[in-house]
Amino acid sequence: MALEVEMVSALSDNYVYLLRDTETGVVAVIDPAEPDPVDKVLVAKQWKPSIIINTHHHGDHIGGNEALIAKYGCQLVGPKAETHRIPGMNQTVSEGDQIKVGSQIGKVFETPGHTKGHISVYFPEGAALFAGDTLFALGCGRMFEGTPQEFWHSLLKLRALPDDTLLYCGHEYTQSNARFALSVDPSNQTLLTLSEKIDERRSKGLPTIPSRLGDEKIANPFLRADDKKLAVDVGASEDPIHAFAVIRQLKDNF
Ligand code: ZN
Ligand code: FE
Repeated sequence: MALEVEMVSALSDNYVYLLRDTETGVVAVIDPAEPDPVDKVLVAKQWKPSIIINTHHHGDHIGGNEALIAKYGCQLVGPKAETHRIPGMNQTVSEGDQIKVGSQIGKVFETPGHTKGHISVYFPEGAALFAGDTLFALGCGRMFEGTPQEFWHSLLKLRALPDDTLLYCGHEYTQSNARFALSVDPSNQTLLTLSEKIDERRSKGLPTIPSRLGDEKIANPFLRADDKKLAVDVGASEDPIHAFAVIRQLKDNF
């Protein structure tokens, strides 16, 4: 029994994830940015998805829904809080709900900040966290709809997961995130080491995902807004919500 995860690159820098429960053969697609590259992999593997999971309503995460549903008749699951913004959902979920992929159980966290209704889904058996555009490797999503308070509390929920959790996020933004992280936290040894590995992988055209959550807890500045030294270094007060807001703003202008 295991959860297989297959990454598919789509659009310019999106990642779509195919999940397969090896016990039952049930397949799910997370955030199909566009149909064609996803379907190519499904056909090659002879996988027929029965579920699509959307983390949030943005076009680069739901763009493949319609065509995949038309071809495979899959059920569409997404955030209850975005019911009117994602067409065609069969099931809506909120905090504490479960999404079943065969025998694998995904735990739903409401993680607003990037969008109002954004969800993240954690599969304990596969130690896999699908965080959409809430938490990126060494970064976090832009704060389009939420407040710093909401976003920080969302990140705290994800930070509470075990260190060996694998973070699967919605975009390959890691290298530029690392550059920003180093600008606010230049002496962080874990960050420096990760950054070198990331540059090496990108120079070979390899993905930097998944990232280990234990590393993110030490090196991702957005997960460290309650670190007093980092807060002082970025010119924020020691209130983590304020520090998060300042770090987010610095990144927006980086
Ligand atoms: Zn988005
Ligand atoms: Fe996105």
